[in-house]
Amino acid sequence: MRIAGWHKCSFVDYPGKIAATIFCSGCNMRCYFCHNRMALVDSPLAAPISEEQVISFLKAKRSLLDGVVLTGGEPTIQDGLEAFLRQVRKLRLAIKIDTNGTDPFCLASLIDHHLVDYIALDLKGPPEKLTAITGVDYQIEALTNSIALVMNSYIEQEFRITVLPEFSLDDVLVCAKLAFGARRLVLQQFQKPDVIPEANGTSRNWNPHPASFFLALQRELRDNFEEIILRNVDLRENPHKPHPTAFQQDFALAVGE
Ligand code: SF4
Repeated sequence: MRIAGWHKCSFVDYPGKIAATIFCSGCNMRCYFCHNRMALVDSPLAAPISEEQVISFLKAKRSLLDGVVLTGGEPTIQDGLEAFLRQVRKLRLAIKIDTNGTDPFCLASLIDHHLVDYIALDLKGPPEKLTAITGVDYQIEALTNSIALVMNSYIEQEFRITVLPEFSLDDVLVCAKLAFGARRLVLQQFQKPDVIPEANGTSRNWNPHPASFFLALQRELRDNFEEIILRNVDLRENPHKPHPTAFQQDFALAVGE
């Protein structure tokens, strides 16, 4: 495992659990809005964090933690992923993986070997825009296989769409259609990254959609998912009025409520 960084204690990365979040180094995509750009390549400037360091921390603090989150970069491209997760399992900690869904075989193996309890799978956009958004020659078959695998599994799951400023309502609906029938859809507000690739700096629209856009999506999609969560969406009528508890909350719509 190549580990680029970690948060020793997070209250937001694993729903309902206190978790240590581990940022894997390296990714097979190059999304222009990536917030973990520094983790995409192994930087000689970054001090590597060893597996031993992480495991010994988890051992010492396991009574204070519920779980571990592996996020990106992309965890499924890591050599030694299963061996690392076996060590986490021995500590009786729950395991969540955030993935872009490009390796259904890895996900199948993790599920078969009971090495994951929660999968958050990113839906990056409508099929015709995936290559432009991810910066790589996107293979939709791998994604659709991963979606089917996760949907048909017993584990906790969410399908996440980061609602990019460039998306129309139809773009998001077409993207969400890839996972119709799933238990949980998360519509996540876009946040401009601190580090922007030079080529994208001037040509992009970086203005996030308003809350009304998300609420319209929620209405349109409510018959297709058991639960729809709006994440990091500011739902205040006047977003300029300070109200510390109204931002960065998950707003869930349970269908039928
Ligand atoms: S898949 Fe995730 S980690 Fe990889 S480039 Fe895209 S946003 Fe960044």
